[in-house]
Order: sequence, then C-alpha cells, then structure tokens
Amino acid sequence: MDARADLIDPFHRKITYLRVSVTDRCDFRCVYCMSEDMTFLPKKEILTLEELDKACTAFINLGVRKLRITGGEPLVRRSIMSFFESISRHLDSGRLEELTLTTNGSQLSRYAKQLAECGVRRVNVSLDTLVPEKFAKITRWGRLNQVLAGIDAAQDAGLRVKINTVALKGFNDIELFDIVGWCHARDMDLTFIEVMPMGDIGNEERLDRYWSLDELRSRLAERYTVSEVSESSGGPARYARIEETGQKVGFITPLSHNFCESCNRVRLTCTGELFMCLGQEDKADLRAALRNEADSDGALFEEAIRDAISRKPKGHDFDYSRQTVSGRVSRHMSHTGG
Ligand code: SAM
Ligand code: SF4
Repeated sequence: MDARADLIDPFHRKITYLRVSVTDRCDFRCVYCMSEDMTFLPKKEILTLEELDKACTAFINLGVRKLRITGGEPLVRRSIMSFFESISRHLDSGRLEELTLTTNGSQLSRYAKQLAECGVRRVNVSLDTLVPEKFAKITRWGRLNQVLAGIDAAQDAGLRVKINTVALKGFNDIELFDIVGWCHARDMDLTFIEVMPMGDIGNEERLDRYWSLDELRSRLAERYTVSEVSESSGGPARYARIEETGQKVGFITPLSHNFCESCNRVRLTCTGELFMCLGQEDKADLRAALRNEADSDGALFEEAIRDAISRKPKGHDFDYSRQTVSGRVSRHMSHTGG
C-alpha cells in the first residue's frame, strides 16, 4: 500500500479515530436517546456491510488507527460478525491499532467470544442503573439481567469492560456510590457522561435531568479523596482517581467543559454521512462517492473524505448555562453514533 498523506483538519488536528454507526436500529428505547415510536431508515439507505468495510478501509489507509463500532445497537445488525471478522484483517496487518465497540450489552452473551476472536480487546457497555425496575424504565425495552449476563460473558471472554453511565439527576444520582463500588468490585472502568441535547425527544425533561459532572464529582469527594489524573486517553474523557481504592473514574463533559481542542475523531453514520463534529449540523455525504462504480481505485472517495476533513469545525456549541437548551442538534444520538 502506498503511503498517503494523513488526514489533518484546518486546526492542525490529525484524524486518527473513526466512529462508525452500523445501524440506526436498537433493541432498547432509552428515553434520552430515542422516542418510543422511532421510525427507522429504509434498508436501501443503509450502507451494506461491504460498503462499511470499504469506507473503514479507506479511512485506515488515510491514517485512522482506532475504529469504534457503534449505532444504534451495533450487535443487532444482521451478520455483523462477518463485518468484525473482515475488518480485523487490519489489526492483523498492524495498520489498525484498536477495534472496539460501544454496546448496550444485550447481545454480548451471544457474541463476546467471537468479538474477542476478532481481536477486540475492550468494549464499552452503557448502563445507567443497577436497579432492575429503573433499568426497564430508562431503557423502556431493556432487561437488566440480560445486560449483566452479557457483561459476564464479555469478562469471561477476556474482554476489558468499561461502563458508560449517563448522569441523570433524580434518577441515578442516588446510586452513585453503588455504581462506583460495583465497577470497582468487578474491575471495570467507569465513565460518566453528561446528557446531551440530541434528538427531538422531550428536551425540557432532559434539561431537568441534567446533572453536571462537576456536581457529581463533588458528591464523590464527600466520601473519597478524589485526585486529578493528568494522563489522557486521547478521547474526550478526563479522569480522576479515588485514592482510597485506586479506581479511575472518567468524565465526559461536553456541556460543562469543552473538549474540542484535542478532537481527533470523526463519525460515519450508517447511511454514509460523515459528521466532522458531533455537535454541529455540517456533514458530508460520502455514500454517493462510496457507491460510485466509476471510482474503481477509490480516488474519488478519498477526495470526498479529504474535502470533508477540510471542513471540520473548531468545536461544538452545546450550552445549558442559560437554563435553556441551546446549541441543540436535531439528530438522535443513535443516528450519529454515540
Ligand atoms: N446502543 C449502544 C449503547 O447504548 O451503548 C451504542 C449507541 S449509544 C447512542 C452510545 C452512547 O450514547 C450510550 O452510552 C448512550 O448512553 C449515549 N447517549 C445516547 N443519547 C445520549 C444523550 N442524549 N446524551 C448523552 N449520551 C447519550
Ligand atoms: Fe439504543 Fe444505545 Fe440509544 Fe439506548 S443509548 S436507545 S441502547 S442506541
């Protein structure tokens, strides 16, 4: 393979991280993510697994080193394991450093072992509560037991599990220490996420539920000695250490702190749109270029990617500070891939 110039955006950030949504569908209906009666995209609009592979491969050829598969729920896409099997060739060749996924965990019992065989080493599992009734309420369709069994299967398969928890005032604030303790006991990393104003689904409710991670951290500090960890994972999370246990806790705070300066990522949706920033509306439609049969060597597709990266904005504009939700984007997280 010939050496190609890396993808560098207008703010001199090198793009090395691609998140790919492989489906907009999901077996859950989390209240902050989807409405109960979601209309999903027609199949013809969704990239085939071969097209997804082609797109990911093009990005890897242009310097992407980390690939995160997401959705919707990535593991409900039919034949998704054939995609993982195929794309893992880039791990074997050493061009891709990490292949990972974000999942609600519902299908991990079925797939954890296969994922590990494809070279996946870590999974992020989203879980907001340890109380079965509350879990059913927040996910609408999910069952806690199924997810806990999935986490067991992932750990049994040797996968490192990180729990992602959306911080929700009046919902899981009272469980803070339970969740922290549970992750520690099971040797799982934990990251809290501030709820973001995505999608047209009861925004005022979401504003009520917004729980700043500064507040969450202060709550932690009431019981523990919490110290700053300077190292960065290259992602948007900042980390703190609980000195009493050595446990590291991550905070993804798009609202109370901006993490855009070091952004190295772009997001590809399941329809082939490339979002250069999660919090902005600008996007590039790569699907036409991807489906262009005249582009046999992929040169036009590469050009379309480069053109998109040249438009990557400096950052997002989410802001809850005036007690209204501004900087909101109308897409659902399941569309862009969280
Ligand atoms: N279905 C998978 C899952 O739930 O992990 C992957 C897709 S989901 C859209 C990715 C992440 O986005 C999850 O951790 C979820 O909690 C988070 N998420 C969804 N909507 C959100 C919102 N409005 N604000 C903050 N995080 C959100
Ligand atoms: Fe599905 Fe994940 Fe969205 Fe929940 S957060 S509805 S599991 S895509």
